Amino acid sequence: MSTISLHLNDTIVAPATPTGGAIAIVRIEGPEAIRIADAIYHSDRGTTLSEMKGYTLSHGVIVDGQRRIDDVIVTIFRSPNSYTGGDMVEISCHGSSYIVGEIVRLAIGQGARSATAGEFTKRAFLAGKIDLSQAEAVADIIAAESKAALSMADTQLRGGYSDSLGALRSQLVDLASLLELELDFGEEDVEFADRSRLLALLGVIGEEMRQLTTSFATGNAVKKGVGVAIVGAPNVGKSTLLNRLLGEERAMVSEIAGTTRDTIEECITIDGVLFRFIDTAGLHETSDRLESMGIERTQKALKGANVVVELFESPGTDVVGPTEEQHIIRVLNKCDRHEIEAPEGWIAISAKRGDGVEELLRAVRATVDTEAIMNGSTVVSNSRHYAALVRGLGALARAEEGLQMGASTDLISMDIREVLDSIGEITGAVTSDDILANIFSHFCIGK
Ligand code: GDP
Repeated sequence: MSTISLHLNDTIVAPATPTGGAIAIVRIEGPEAIRIADAIYHSDRGTTLSEMKGYTLSHGVIVDGQRRIDDVIVTIFRSPNSYTGGDMVEISCHGSSYIVGEIVRLAIGQGARSATAGEFTKRAFLAGKIDLSQAEAVADIIAAESKAALSMADTQLRGGYSDSLGALRSQLVDLASLLELELDFGEEDVEFADRSRLLALLGVIGEEMRQLTTSFATGNAVKKGVGVAIVGAPNVGKSTLLNRLLGEERAMVSEIAGTTRDTIEECITIDGVLFRFIDTAGLHETSDRLESMGIERTQKALKGANVVVELFESPGTDVVGPTEEQHIIRVLNKCDRHEIEAPEGWIAISAKRGDGVEELLRAVRATVDTEAIMNGSTVVSNSRHYAALVRGLGALARAEEGLQMGASTDLISMDIREVLDSIGEITGAVTSDDILANIFSHFCIGK
C-alpha cells in the first residue's frame, strides 16, 4: 500500500524572526516536529521533549552530533492547542543568522522541509483555526504602522468581520434555500418564498454590503497611510511647510522657483493615523525636461491623494481641481510677512515660524473619521474583500431587479448564489487554490 504524502502532513521549519535582534525564534511544525527537535536538542535536565506537555518550556543546547551550536529555550505546543493546530516547537536562540541557519539546517537533516511564505498561517486556516479574513488580518497586524491600522487589523483578527459577514450570509442562505425548494417542485406553480419579504430582506442585506463597501475608502487609506499632497505655485512655501512638519530639513528649500524637482514623500502619524505627506514640484508650465517629469509625477500623486493642502501667498484661485473624494484644505502662508486676512474656511500659517501649523495638522487629521475603526466596528481595508463585495452587490442588484420584474425562480436563485459565493470568498467558506496561493505568497516566511 502506498502512503499518500499530503502536503499538510509533512513537517516544516523556518525562522520566525528577522535577523538583527538579540533573540531569534525558529519554528518547527507538523507531526514530526517534536521528534525532530528532540534529535537536535539536549535538555539540561536530561528530559526529552516528547515527554513534555504542551505550553511548557525546556532549557538546553542545540547540538550537531558532539558539536554545541547554541544555548536555547524550547517551547512545546501540542496539537490542537497551537497556532496552526498541529504539534509545534519554537526554539528561542541567540539572534545570530549563523545559529538560525544551523538550526534550520539540522531540522531539515532530520526530515523537516523549509516552510513557504505564510505556510504556518495557511495551516492554521486549513485546520479551521481561523478563517481567511482572519489569516489576512495576521499579515495586516505585522504590517500595521499606526494605532488605527492595528485597530482595524485586530478587529478583523478577532473575527468581528467574519461575524458580520457570517450573519449576512446566513440570512441569505435561508432565502436561497426557500427558492431552491421551489425549484425542487419543478412544474408545480408553488411559491414558498414571499416575494415582497424577499425583496425587503435583499434591501437590508444590500444596505449592509454597501456600508461595508463604502468603508473601504477610509479603511484602505488608513492601512496604507492617508495621502496628503501639498500643492501650490512655486515659492509659496511647500518645502518649508514639509520641513516644518517633519521637524527636519528634508525637502530642499530654495529661493529659485522650481527647485523641488521630484515628489518627496514623508510619513507622519497624527493621533493614531499615518499620513503620507507629498511635497510636489511647483505646478506650472515649464520647458525643462526634468522639471516637467516632476510635474507629471505631481499630477499622479495629486490624483491618488486623499487630502490636498493647497498653499497660497495671497488668496487666489485654485491651481488644482480636486476630485470629489478629495478633501481640500486651503492655506494662506507667510502670515509673518503680510497682513492679509485669511478667507473664511482657510487656515493662516507661517511655515517658516510655525504659527498655525498645529491647526493645520488638526484639520488634516479631521479629514479621516476613525471613530468606527477605533470602536472596533467592521471596516473593509482589504482590496480583495472590496472586490468581492462589489461583485456581490452587482449580483444582488440583479436579484432585486429579477424579483421586481417577476423573473423565473432559477434566475433569481442563481444571482443569490453568486452573492453567497462572493461573501463566502472573503471568509474562505468558498475558495480556490489560486486565491489561497495568492494570499499566502504575500506573507513573510515563518508566519
Ligand atoms: P516651494 O517652492 O513652494 O517649495 O517654496 P519653498 O519652501 O522653497 O519656499 C520658498 C521661499 O519662501 C523660501 O525662501 C522660504 O524661506 C520662504 N518661505 C516659506 N514659508 C515662509 C513663511 O512662512 N514666511 C516667510 N517669511 N517666508 C517663507
